Amino acid sequence: MTSIREAFESMAWGPAPESPAQAQEWLGRHQRAFSHYINGVWTSGDGISRFGVINPATREELAQVAEGSRGDVDAAVAAARAAQPLWWELGGHGRARWLYALAREVQRNARLFAVVESLDNGKPIRESRDIDIPLVARHFYHHAGWAQLMETELAGYGPVGVVGQIIPWNFPLLMLAWKIAPALAMGNTVVLKPAEFTPLTALLFADCCQAIGLPPGVINIVTGDGRTGALLVGHPEVDKIAFTGSTEVGRIIRTATAGSGKRLSLELGGKSPFIVFEDADLDSVVEGVVDAIWFNQGQVCCAGSRILVQEGVGPRLIEKLRGRMETLRVGNPLDKAVDIGAIVAPVQLEKIESLVKQGIAEGATCWQPSWSCPTEGLFYPPTLFTEVAPAATIAQVEIFGPVVVLMTFRTPAEAVEIANNTRYGLAASVWSENLNTALDIAPQLKAGTVWVNCTNMFDAASGFGGYRESGFGREGGKEGLWEYVRVEGRGAEGQRGGGAVEWAATPPDRPTAALPAIDRTPKLYIGGKQVRPDATYTIPIHDASGALAAEVPRGNRKDIRNAVEAAHKAESAWARATAHTRAQVLYYFAENLAVREREFTDRLAALTASPASADEVRLAIERSFYYAAWADKYDGRVHHTPFRNVTLAMNEPIGVMGLAAPEEAPLLGFLSLVLPAVAMGNPVVAVPSERWPLLATDLYQVFDTSDVPGGVINIVTGIAKELVPVLAAHDDVDGVWFFGPRELGAEVEKLSAGNMKRTWVEWEARDWLDGHDGQGEEFLREATQVKNIWVPYGA
Ligand code: ADP
Repeated sequence: MTSIREAFESMAWGPAPESPAQAQEWLGRHQRAFSHYINGVWTSGDGISRFGVINPATREELAQVAEGSRGDVDAAVAAARAAQPLWWELGGHGRARWLYALAREVQRNARLFAVVESLDNGKPIRESRDIDIPLVARHFYHHAGWAQLMETELAGYGPVGVVGQIIPWNFPLLMLAWKIAPALAMGNTVVLKPAEFTPLTALLFADCCQAIGLPPGVINIVTGDGRTGALLVGHPEVDKIAFTGSTEVGRIIRTATAGSGKRLSLELGGKSPFIVFEDADLDSVVEGVVDAIWFNQGQVCCAGSRILVQEGVGPRLIEKLRGRMETLRVGNPLDKAVDIGAIVAPVQLEKIESLVKQGIAEGATCWQPSWSCPTEGLFYPPTLFTEVAPAATIAQVEIFGPVVVLMTFRTPAEAVEIANNTRYGLAASVWSENLNTALDIAPQLKAGTVWVNCTNMFDAASGFGGYRESGFGREGGKEGLWEYVRVEGRGAEGQRGGGAVEWAATPPDRPTAALPAIDRTPKLYIGGKQVRPDATYTIPIHDASGALAAEVPRGNRKDIRNAVEAAHKAESAWARATAHTRAQVLYYFAENLAVREREFTDRLAALTASPASADEVRLAIERSFYYAAWADKYDGRVHHTPFRNVTLAMNEPIGVMGLAAPEEAPLLGFLSLVLPAVAMGNPVVAVPSERWPLLATDLYQVFDTSDVPGGVINIVTGIAKELVPVLAAHDDVDGVWFFGPRELGAEVEKLSAGNMKRTWVEWEARDWLDGHDGQGEEFLREATQVKNIWVPYGA
């Protein structure tokens, strides 16, 4: 009899395949023959020539795609040209709404995208599902924010115009997102050519554009090989080319565009060093190597393809690496238990094989695990070269496969010298448990990205791009936006053309369930629940005609204390939630508020009889977008302190905040305080204005449906002079904002002395509907405190 323990240890992995059924069905819907996506429609398939796209894991043909001709490129550029001025005129908020809609559409189809990507490219489903596609959505969300903020954060800049974008096959949809999201955010329109080996997710993305009704011409997808790419590069009506691919093709494009006035950004090859010091944690290093070179079969431009290890720990690292390589699983990319999938195409496999042969011929030691790869598809085993001379071909040339070379060094200076001994400069990683060592080496490396004790990390908020022959221009973060803007008025190329097309200003609302009846007996909102007040007294609220609209609870000090306690419970999770998560919650809130725009407008009009009701609700939606946009962009700074260090100035939330809303704008006054505080990671106890609590209490249903965690937003209605002093005096409240009468403001400041909480008190009325008065960086600053972290940097 085998014991459970023995059975457990001898258990082999069973296959856990993801079903390709829906992907196949999608291909079937297109009859497995695609044309181009131009001006919002699929072009006619008549008379076009096509070529086959294979599944590299089986070599079976997946579909036929079109070879873009001069006529196709002309049509796509013309469509983008006509659309560009309209797209720009939509304004930042309009573009943000569309980018947000694209992000949502990608998320809704996430699994289908992941499966199509794995079928087409050969990458393991675990990577496409957990890395590529979530990052794609993240990119669109993040750049929805930049669209929203462009007017203030890039004031004086306008779009470049029509952008031609050419992308490679290693991260097909992710590269599309990296290119399209910032271009669109900044008001450009695009013609994108995916790589000939992997066009399918771009075509699925075109379907998504159509599904959400993206205005025609904003995104055009033309398929084809390098010849189609060259037509796009040479097109006189294209204002900028953004290219990711090999340094060879990058050079051709640089030459072709020289003197044309076209702007250019290039993200090219790499041979990134992976530097291991003897004090590194070798187990982490081994997992790091797995990520560095066996992620995406090593077909990563920033792959850590050169391990430089300090001599003393070389043998131990080699032994550990070989052990780990034995456990890697190569096979069916759709199998969730597979680590390494298929190589994208036969030519790529041949290239890898021939470089490995050359490495052996040049005298390096080649090691591969004892198991063998499946034979039916394009597979290549993980490969480790040792005894490699720094000048050897395999140490210099980008292999773009699961092949890593290992060299040793003695001193940190030698590590830097070998690391920089390359014509590339895309990325590098440094492994050491000693912070001083790691941060002494980082500034000496010639690379656009340096990872310390990690590798292959990407995010929409951080720029990515090369030094030297790895190219120029950045993708991601604010630094990535500069590629897609120009100083307004300079080179007006981007502004010409345009047609009289009627456009929806924002994506159509999706159908929603019937609206709930207006709540006539609002309660308090504490800890994510509607609760009755401690003492059941109410305050009557009248509408503009003097009729009773509702009776709201008259909260007391106990209610405030309960709300503070609920906020405290939510505090650490909310402060630690990623900025992206907070952004998403606020976008979702905006979306749900937009769904109920009419209801809120009617409510506001009935209560106030103000002609500006519709404006106020529209601005409330826009303001939610504004702070959602800021949530992951209110970055700190890095100070160049004049010693051997840098100082990271990080914005951190203040803590539990008490907010007393102004009376001027019933809905917007309340939200103008709550949104920035919450966006920056503070849970809040909000006291609506005495006169207009109903708009705030109407909101809790929207908060409930928007994934706002319970306790992050608490609402206590009642009499300001009874409630606000309790907040101001409360020792567990870290900050108070008060917009109201002067006497009460003075009391707030006095009472705050107890725990020296921060206060922001204003008694002068603001125009909350005004973009300058009612929102801005001031609010973000008041919602955060700066922590300066001094770290060693350079020696
Ligand atoms: P990789 O490094 O990804 O193997 P390439 O640099 O060959 O790839 O290709 C990247 C992209 O550039 C692909 O979409 C390809 O079709 C396109 N391309 C290849 N040659 C040219 C060219 N001469 N002009 C423009 N685009 C090209």
